[in-house]
Amino acid sequence: MSFDYDYFVIGAGSGGVRSSRIASGHGAKVAIAEEYRVGGTCVIRGCVPKKLLVIGAHFAEDLEDARRYGWEIEGKRFDWPTLRDNVLADVDRLNRAYQSTLDTHKVETFHSRATLIGPNRVAVDGREVTAKHVLIATGARPQLPDIPGAELGITSNEVFHLDSLPKRAVIVGGGYIANEFAGILHELGVDVTLVVRSGKLLRGWDESLSDRLLTISTQKGIDFRFNSVPAKVEKLESGALAISCENGRVLETDLLIWAIGRVPNSEGLGLEQLGIELKPNGAIPVDANSHTSLPWLHAVGDVTDRLQLTPIAIREGHALADGLFGGKNWTVDHDCVPSAVFSHPPLASVGLTESQARNKLGSVKIFTSDFRPMKSVLAERNERCLYKLVVDETTDKLVGAHMIGPDSPEILQALAIAVKAGLTKAQLDQTVALHPSMAEELVLMR
Ligand code: NDP
Repeated sequence: MSFDYDYFVIGAGSGGVRSSRIASGHGAKVAIAEEYRVGGTCVIRGCVPKKLLVIGAHFAEDLEDARRYGWEIEGKRFDWPTLRDNVLADVDRLNRAYQSTLDTHKVETFHSRATLIGPNRVAVDGREVTAKHVLIATGARPQLPDIPGAELGITSNEVFHLDSLPKRAVIVGGGYIANEFAGILHELGVDVTLVVRSGKLLRGWDESLSDRLLTISTQKGIDFRFNSVPAKVEKLESGALAISCENGRVLETDLLIWAIGRVPNSEGLGLEQLGIELKPNGAIPVDANSHTSLPWLHAVGDVTDRLQLTPIAIREGHALADGLFGGKNWTVDHDCVPSAVFSHPPLASVGLTESQARNKLGSVKIFTSDFRPMKSVLAERNERCLYKLVVDETTDKLVGAHMIGPDSPEILQALAIAVKAGLTKAQLDQTVALHPSMAEELVLMR
């Protein structure tokens, strides 16, 4: 049977773009459909613009600290439209770069929504095309709660486009996005309140790090309301929003941001009609090779809800294309994946937390370094770093590393190699410190 395409990819985000260009490199005839903008969440409304806002916001502290280093900066003033527009212009640049990557790899782009209409059959741009293999890489979107007035709040998607910054903001959630945007907005002068449904921030992270982030964030002036679940949102005559929580508390704010997790974009694609049974949260079930139960249909990235991280989607897409068209079968290892929360200061982590290691391994050794970085000492900034190594006591292998402090994600990326490679604590100890640096603490813990 002949097909219009060897590979039809639905969704031009991180996973879809990588998979399509690798498939094309293997000689496949490839098309990709994107209903919004090529680049997907990471490039258009996620990791990249968020990180630029984090960098932009952190100047608030750096300019403050600069005084102790002898710099007089008169008339400093922050202009939100300048930062916003420069970030959005960079998003445009990346969007063009992604499109150009697709074009140079001879991947045909359909700038419209595509849906499945039967085995190997896709409806796109008002016509029907056939493909030997189809990939769903449609990502995920922010979740909204099912309560009255939820639509009065926005999500991280819209923060990048705000006309002006509010005086007050309430962010609901205690995870990655909530803490990252709490940091950004606070640094930019907004009064931020985080509303968290449990008693803990960043569930799944090593508790000593999330506790440290809470201490530092509170010192900086971010307000936290734990054990609070919004039940209703109303618009007041003043234009402000009133958020009533189940515990009876009412919070008034100018801007409400929902950051309560992301749901897979799997609706309306025609999956149910093809007999694909979605997981309760809408995720597409796949095997280790990203194959669904249908031999011609595959899925990668956030729509499969394995690990909602860009580098994972990219690897899944790459491995799939290699397997389908390159004769190279490999699977993505979802274990021991480093990740970071770009709060102020950032957190970074890889491998087992202390409590996970105690449950899994029984006897573990914990090494910590709790220190004030040199830059903060001179700046009289009372903000301490915390580094933690988790070591399997039986084998001396490093099984987890967790850090909070300036540049933690940069430092941890290198340390993640040691954890992934199964290096021992003794091998870390054998490494001479690079002095003076924050990272030297990693080889000095005894
Ligand atoms: P997270 O899963 O990180 O956090 C969701 C938060 O919302 C949790 O605190 C959760 O509480 C809370 N929550 C869930 N449902 C409700 C509800 N109905 N009412 C009130 N609170 C609720 O999700 P995010 O949206 O922050 O981010 C989504 C994912 O995107 C992340 O998990 C991560 O994989 C990825 N991401 C990665 C980033 C990075 O690598 N730097 C940056 C941003 C996102 P509880 O803990 O009790 O469940």
